[in-house]
Amino acid sequence: MTDIRPSAAFLVRHPAHFIALGFGAGLAPFAPGTFGTLVALPIAMLLWQATNSLAFVVVIVLAFAIGVWVSEMTGRALQAADHGAIVWDEVVAFLLVLFFVGPNPAGIIAGFVLFRFFDIVKPPPIRQLDTMLKNGFGVMIDDVVAAGYTGTPDEQWCGCWLPSSTDFALARYDPDGTPFQPQVHYYVGGATKLYGAALYRLREQDFGEVRHHDGISPAWPISYDELEPYYTQAEHLYQVHGAHGEDPTEGPASEPYPFPAVSHEPRIQQLSDDLAAAGYHPFHAPCGIMLDEGNMPYSRCVRCQDCDGFPCLVHAKSDAEVLAVRPALEHPNVTLLRNAQAVKLETDDSGATVTAVVVERDGERETYTADVVVVSCGATNSAKLLLQSASGKHPNRLANGSDPSQPRGQVWAAISSRMRASSSALIRSTPAPSSGTRCRARRSAGSGRARRPRPRAAGAG
Ligand SMILES: Cc1cc2nc3c(=O)[nH]c(=O)nc-3n(C[C@H](O)[C@H](O)[C@H](O)COP(=O)(O)OP(=O)(O)OC[C@H]3O[C@@H](n4cnc5c(N)ncnc54)[C@H](O)[C@@H]3O)c2cc1C
Repeated sequence: MTDIRPSAAFLVRHPAHFIALGFGAGLAPFAPGTFGTLVALPIAMLLWQATNSLAFVVVIVLAFAIGVWVSEMTGRALQAADHGAIVWDEVVAFLLVLFFVGPNPAGIIAGFVLFRFFDIVKPPPIRQLDTMLKNGFGVMIDDVVAAGYTGTPDEQWCGCWLPSSTDFALARYDPDGTPFQPQVHYYVGGATKLYGAALYRLREQDFGEVRHHDGISPAWPISYDELEPYYTQAEHLYQVHGAHGEDPTEGPASEPYPFPAVSHEPRIQQLSDDLAAAGYHPFHAPCGIMLDEGNMPYSRCVRCQDCDGFPCLVHAKSDAEVLAVRPALEHPNVTLLRNAQAVKLETDDSGATVTAVVVERDGERETYTADVVVVSCGATNSAKLLLQSASGKHPNRLANGSDPSQPRGQVWAAISSRMRASSSALIRSTPAPSSGTRCRARRSAGSGRARRPRPRAAGAG
């Protein structure tokens, strides 16, 4: 800090001052760095609206370069290289954080808090850089390192294989140019890292032909009865807590759930009692969480607020990474390739069997051969992979045989006509005891969801 206190006149005396002082944020009488950080937000909002990721990066690089110059000039004028009023470094660094976080309110708040924390605490090498480099570059670089700490792949903080938040930033665009986040989660464990772990079985009738108001969902080639033993196995693998028999709409189960139903929170218990008294059949949602209500001090799940929509940082949610991938990796013949994208499937000469998978990993193309290839990239990316896999034998893309009623083929028809339905209720409770884990009753449509609000008191399934 220095005794020279910049004024409004100093701010407008030179464009370098105006930029270095974050368009005036640096004149704030207290916490100028925090105010300066916030300047990045409208800039990022503009960039999210008006440009793409490449342009965002170019703006950050230019802003950094300009920052070296304006900080140097302004620091000299204020006779302190890293004067507290110079906040352009915070602006640029937080822009970088926002680039990775994307237009996602929870991520922005978390990014802001973490960035301010690292910028103030200055873990190594931030403090060393701050002390050693007393010029424009030094002013800028330590904040960028703080941003790097903030955007460090989440695995450093939570021990999950969550990549950095870049996938949140990967907005897609509707035909009219409106950005949307496709909610595809490229993690080890996929969407289950964030899911609500309400692990319902489909109902028996879901396997038959179902008429919806906007079309017919064709019958599955297998029945509920054929799948039932696997539901039971999956419920054991995913440590589901529930009570078969409560829900009159569910199909037969050959075994009880491995764990008792999660107890209702008081407000939900009241609702359940009221519904039962009115002649309805409320039931406990089957929950895949590692909760031991009989021995809470030793329970891995603590019924925190952040379950549905969040990765569980203590690995107490029954997600695919924790309960399927990690145990599989204990076998010496299992290898996990991270940051690898399957881009094409190749078939044998007959064209009937997939024999190889072309993968892009770290910028290189690799080909893996196998006797059995399972495509499980999620609904959208599995379809995308098939559609990317044209060959001489499959000029119309893989598994996309011609269907006269579907000009773009069967894969396209299947993905675009997939029906999804789910119902949720948001309940205002007085008082409002709340936990992120769901233990309330509701009837599930059993076939996915269309839009997911994020209620916190009595969540969505
Ligand atoms: C917030 C949220 C809450 C949810 N709550 C529930 C719930 O309570 N109950 C419920 O039953 N369901 C819930 N779901 C839905 C559930 O998580 C998904 O239906 C389920 O995870 C789908 O599994 P999947 O294996 O088909 O795909 P995903 O889980 O999407 O997994 C696909 C995997 O493939 C990888 N991948 C994608 N493309 C490629 C490629 N080209 N090459 C290599 N790998 C690729 C991805 O990185 C990912 O790891 C929820 C989902 C979300 C987002």
